[in-house]
Amino acid sequence: MPDIIVIGSMNADLAVRVSRFPQPGETISGEDLQIIPGGKGANQAVAAARQGASVAMIGRVGNDSFGPALLRNLEQNNVDASHVQTDAHSATGTAIIVVDANGQNSIVLSPGGNGNVSPADLDDVAFPAYKLLLLQLEIPIEAVLSAARRAKESGLRVLLNPAPARPLPEELISLPDFLLPNESELSLLTGQPVHDRTSAERAATTLLERGAQNLIVTLGANGALIVNRGMTKHVPAFKVDVIDTTAAGDAFIGGFSSALLQNKPLEEAVRYGCACGALAATKFGAQPSLPTREEVERFIT
Ligand code: ADP
Repeated sequence: MPDIIVIGSMNADLAVRVSRFPQPGETISGEDLQIIPGGKGANQAVAAARQGASVAMIGRVGNDSFGPALLRNLEQNNVDASHVQTDAHSATGTAIIVVDANGQNSIVLSPGGNGNVSPADLDDVAFPAYKLLLLQLEIPIEAVLSAARRAKESGLRVLLNPAPARPLPEELISLPDFLLPNESELSLLTGQPVHDRTSAERAATTLLERGAQNLIVTLGANGALIVNRGMTKHVPAFKVDVIDTTAAGDAFIGGFSSALLQNKPLEEAVRYGCACGALAATKFGAQPSLPTREEVERFIT
């Protein structure tokens, strides 16, 4: 059985580059459409698998041509997709992305099947067979909560990436072994401004008071911060020539998770995650930029 189970979103990212954004009612021409597999759940599953972890994905695609393509993509990346359901009555989740000449994004997200993932989808999941559960917030919160409860009852470690940012039930603060927000997500969770290490540490500490166990706050080009009851530790970023930071957080989570499963100490696992995030920032796109284990090992040594 795989070690990691990801319960989350799968999207087709439909991206077009344009010289400028269209006005309401206007039609403009763009470059060729790029169709790229995405969704935070699938990205993190692929990120961990590229680090050599064995990974299974639970989620839903729709009854259209994107569904089989997303399943094939998972399989090509050595992610077990056999438990992904095909929703007869909905579309596959899509992100319609327009990128202008300055690299600015404008995105319309259509959740499709992701919006129908439910606690009942977990009925047949043999939680005790896995070691680590990865969760994000692109599926309904009831499914996220149910998965976290079931996993903890079965003795798994649980990592919640609270993205995209939204308020959480208190149980989802205290249940996960690892809460892994970026700065804006931490700010939303705490109602406090977060713009540097000091403010991140202050906000993370309030989450400890609300029962959180281990906070790993990613700080973009400033690396990451570990805050738990035993320590506060800053892990610096690796210096790279940045092309596009899309999916840096997903790459971090894949690397961090695989390092945890190799029994690396927390700080070392975070450093490994930082290396994965930095490498992802050197390439364009989401899944295409997720590094392999060989790339990370060459980069670190
Ligand atoms: P998210 O993509 O979720 O917003 P971050 O931007 O915080 O997450 O990035 C995740 C991790 O990727 C960071 O902790 C850092 O280690 C690495 N990273 C991101 N941007 C850069 C960068 N410009 N230079 C080096 N490392 C980066």
